[in-house]
Amino acid sequence: MRIDIITCLPRLLDSPFSDSILQRAQKKGLVEVNIHDLRKYSTDKHQKIDDYAFGGGAGMVMMIEPIANCIRDLQSKRAYDEVIYMSPDGEQFTQSIANQLSMYKNIIILCGHYKGVDERVRQHFITREISIGDYVLSGGELAAAVVSDAIIRLLPGVLSDETSALTDSFQDDLVAPPVYTRPADFEGMVVPDILLSGHEKKIDDWRFDQAVKRTKKRRPNLLK
Ligand code: SAH
Repeated sequence: MRIDIITCLPRLLDSPFSDSILQRAQKKGLVEVNIHDLRKYSTDKHQKIDDYAFGGGAGMVMMIEPIANCIRDLQSKRAYDEVIYMSPDGEQFTQSIANQLSMYKNIIILCGHYKGVDERVRQHFITREISIGDYVLSGGELAAAVVSDAIIRLLPGVLSDETSALTDSFQDDLVAPPVYTRPADFEGMVVPDILLSGHEKKIDDWRFDQAVKRTKKRRPNLLK
């Protein structure tokens, strides 16, 4: 899979992709993440990428030209399954969207800033708009990192235990059951006996039962 992220603040995306699982996934060649600095696509001598809003009002608007140049350049090299704009008014990101996007080969993610992008970008270049929640961030970079992380950990071979992503919250309309590790007794706070029993079937049943209980309590809307 290939993810191309377009941003006017490329450095904001350095760290999320240079550690742990996301870094390993790239090193193993399971995903290629390319960060594109929007300023390089500006034709203005000051590398301008934003301007005042027509009609007035506070806040700058990201110009269509550099964005169009960048998206067209990418699209001239390969076909993209989706050109995504991170936007607070987009469809709300869920595990099921992450699952869907993880099946794609090439995607573009555009990060907005300031007041957002010129509406014509959304009308003519964007195929999907995604929000990571009902709150406003100062830029789309963190949101793009969230979406990319959720996608990349689903790619085959990325997680060391292949079944691990499948047992995470939301994959089966349940949240995850509680987990414990050594020591079995910490100052009298003990781990449930069943987990120490070595009885695989009983442990599976217990985990399922706990997941159902937790879901009922915390996220009853998930239960079908
Ligand atoms: N004026 C816009 C907000 C712009 S915030 C509005 O009221 O809708 C600047 C940029 O941050 C946006 O263009 C978008 O790319 C990103 N952003 C902010 N909140 C986001 C969210 N909840 N999900 C995804 N992207 C978000």
